[in-house]
Amino acid sequence: MTDSSLTPDIHARLAQTADVTLDEATTFADLTTLHLGGRPRLVVRCATAAAVSEVVRLLDAASVPLLVVAGGSNLVVADGDLDLVVVLLENDQVTMDAAGRVVAGAGAEWDAVVAAAVDAGLGGIECLSGIPGSAGATPVQNVGAYGAEIADVLVQVLLLDRTTGEVSWVPAVDLDLAYRYSNLKFTSRGVVLAIELQLTTDGLSAPLRFGELARRLGATSGEERWPVADVRAAVLELRHGKGMVVVESDHDTWSAGSFFTNPVVDPSVADAVQLLVRESRGDEDADRMPRFPAPGGEKLSAAWLIERAGFTRGYPGEGAPARLSTKHTLALTNRGSATTADLVALAREVRDGVREVFGVTLVPEPVWIGVSID
Ligand SMILES: Cc1cc2nc3c(=O)[nH]c(=O)nc-3n(C[C@H](O)[C@H](O)[C@H](O)COP(=O)(O)OP(=O)(O)OC[C@H]3O[C@@H](n4cnc5c(N)ncnc54)[C@H](O)[C@@H]3O)c2cc1C
Repeated sequence: MTDSSLTPDIHARLAQTADVTLDEATTFADLTTLHLGGRPRLVVRCATAAAVSEVVRLLDAASVPLLVVAGGSNLVVADGDLDLVVVLLENDQVTMDAAGRVVAGAGAEWDAVVAAAVDAGLGGIECLSGIPGSAGATPVQNVGAYGAEIADVLVQVLLLDRTTGEVSWVPAVDLDLAYRYSNLKFTSRGVVLAIELQLTTDGLSAPLRFGELARRLGATSGEERWPVADVRAAVLELRHGKGMVVVESDHDTWSAGSFFTNPVVDPSVADAVQLLVRESRGDEDADRMPRFPAPGGEKLSAAWLIERAGFTRGYPGEGAPARLSTKHTLALTNRGSATTADLVALAREVRDGVREVFGVTLVPEPVWIGVSID
């Protein structure tokens, strides 16, 4: 392993920081929902936003490589020893008021925030029920599901700017939030210490714009709003059916969620893909091909393409340590004994297979540390 700048002096200063616990035993396999990844130099558990700021400033000043981690549900981390320090966000305080203002510490479990908001009759995040991970990570890739995304309700984030070391509230509009993207993703420019949301207070959900969810509830138009608790229950049921809620005993959920983003392509590419499907699978399948207008072109369904490229649920089958989920082709899973190398090999096979058949290159959604699909 390369020499780290984590000197005994830095180590001692970390140990003396208030609300910080040093943990030398935890590995990335313990920290990630894929249960994969090797050993960092050290895990620094931070119980307050002040502790996070102090630790990150200290490590940055000494040029010690660090990775901010919360729920570990969007990370693919290399096997073996990693020359980096994990700053683990455990600042989990949440406040909400009758006017629908919610402030959550970055380390708060996201689904607990949703559950508490729904219990309080607040609306706007019920469609984001069951998404694993932390509140602070929700703006990082603008998490979304079932027709809603955090951008719809996010007012501002408390951000530690790692270039200046300063902490300030940054309006959501300055984060360039887009489909599974913000200007915080894939950069180390800042750490979200807390988020502020503005929710509705009439007990009703956001408009039910996602067909599958609307149908499940019996809603008739895309603008109907339903009681928040009913929507949360329906979303959780749908997600459980797809293995998209983490259940430790179910290897179909040892994943990073959707492994590839839905590709946005030029309409001419979408036409070409549809033609290929028409020629190989017939009109009925081709006519049902999902394609939706999106900024930059048309959005196709990654799961649909993966299936049409010949990768079925559970691929490559019993006994393989890394497999597609048996519930959803878009989730790559660790069946218990996989290494990151196994998972990456499967990811490459799927990406290359789709590219060979359709000429579309799928792009992974999670953040990769110490390893790459290329
Ligand atoms: C079963 C399953 C289902 C999922 N379903 C969805 C879904 O429906 N929609 C969706 O959008 N995502 C989904 N995901 C992906 C994932 O849950 C989200 O991206 C989640 O927000 C990640 O949060 P985390 O705390 O686990 O982040 P981590 O995995 O700990 O970190 C992910 C990245 O964000 C950075 N990061 C984390 N916290 C902060 C912070 N406070 N400040 C700055 N950077 C930070 C990390 O450094 C890392 O680069 C799913 C994942 C799983 C396993």
